[in-house]
Amino acid sequence: MKPESLMMSYGYKPHLSEGAIKCPIFQTSTFVFKSAEEGKSFFEVAYGLREQKVGEELGLIYSRINNPDLEILENRLTLWDEAEEAAVFESGMAAISTVLLEFLKPGDLVLTSNPLYGGTDHFISKILPNFGIHVASFKVGQSKEEVIKIVEETGFAKNLKLIFIETPANPTNDLIDIKDTKEVAKYFSTPDNEIVLAVDNTYMGPLWQHPLKLGADLVLYSATKYIGGHSDVIAGACLGSNRLMKRVKGLRTFLGNMASPNTGWLLMRSLETLKVRMDAQAINANKVAEFLNQHPAIEKVYFLGNLTPKDGHIYETKMSQCLSNGAMISFDIKGLEEDSFKVLNKLKLIKLAVSLGSTESLAEHPATMTHADVDLELRKELGISEKMIRLSVGVENYEDIIYDLNQALSVIV
Ligand SMILES: *Cc1c(COP(=O)(O)O)cnc(C)c1O
Repeated sequence: MKPESLMMSYGYKPHLSEGAIKCPIFQTSTFVFKSAEEGKSFFEVAYGLREQKVGEELGLIYSRINNPDLEILENRLTLWDEAEEAAVFESGMAAISTVLLEFLKPGDLVLTSNPLYGGTDHFISKILPNFGIHVASFKVGQSKEEVIKIVEETGFAKNLKLIFIETPANPTNDLIDIKDTKEVAKYFSTPDNEIVLAVDNTYMGPLWQHPLKLGADLVLYSATKYIGGHSDVIAGACLGSNRLMKRVKGLRTFLGNMASPNTGWLLMRSLETLKVRMDAQAINANKVAEFLNQHPAIEKVYFLGNLTPKDGHIYETKMSQCLSNGAMISFDIKGLEEDSFKVLNKLKLIKLAVSLGSTESLAEHPATMTHADVDLELRKELGISEKMIRLSVGVENYEDIIYDLNQALSVIV
């Protein structure tokens, strides 16, 4: 069956919870063992002291290690990306920082795409160097050969351990070819140094892009965005093979940054409507982009749906890896920062807030808000100017979203 058909029931047995149709919140720190022998056996598996027997599941021990709300949620999350295993965290940054710390050690090199989400960029460029980790990065539009050259020029090519990319890039919707990036990972991999490719898939959510199928080793989400989808929870997730996820979950146990049972429960509630929400958002985004494309106060619209064969490799990348145009649109108005602010201040239905992927439409000003921390020169290079407004399209009626944008844009025409 399709994932959307299984989101209400997969992995949950009502008879274990008094017949409750919904999985209760297992608000408990610890679990009672039936016997000392059972406790011993559970710990042997949890700490890898012996091989798991065929069909043997990890017994419930302690909510930092496992909890039914997290385990059922993780099982449901694997369905969308067809991953072997998932781990949920108390934030997207917790998932990302855990992966970076697990796969990098002093002396190693990490290669990243640019731009990256501000928090990720800060962790990689400001915190990892404190641990003696070297950082190299490439920009959207650079070829495989150019990226290989960047790595070689660092002088640390032999120490490359992890490639971390984000596509589509926030806020410009620029695309990075996941398959090409995997080729770069393969180019530098040796039998005793396997380079891991991790992809932050937050911008496309679990529906519209499946990095694991395109060669990525790990896929990461800020579950705060489409997965949570109601602007009422901060959470994160990481998915991949059993082998790699064992390492990710191992470090999560000792960093203690797993999601709480309540967060797990909220995300299970959200997953039930993930597909209908994202479908509605994508339909709305196409309509909103159509409106913005012909508006006289707008100079440029950054939307995956606007790409054509004339865009060459970027268009081919979209066709081979994105299953939708998404619901994120940025646009440049004709004017200055004060004009962008006038438009933002005039919006009524669309809320002036950062974050994305939620049921309500949100608008913000990347240059002074989400990307304020990005170096001015780099910001210019990436096209994040004072004229740019970023829009996350929600599930409202698209005519109302367009009406709101039209009345707000009228202040500058
Ligand atoms: C929001 C976001 C994050 C960080 O997630 P949090 O849940 O806020 O910690 C990481 N990557 C991308 C692309 C994001 O949009």
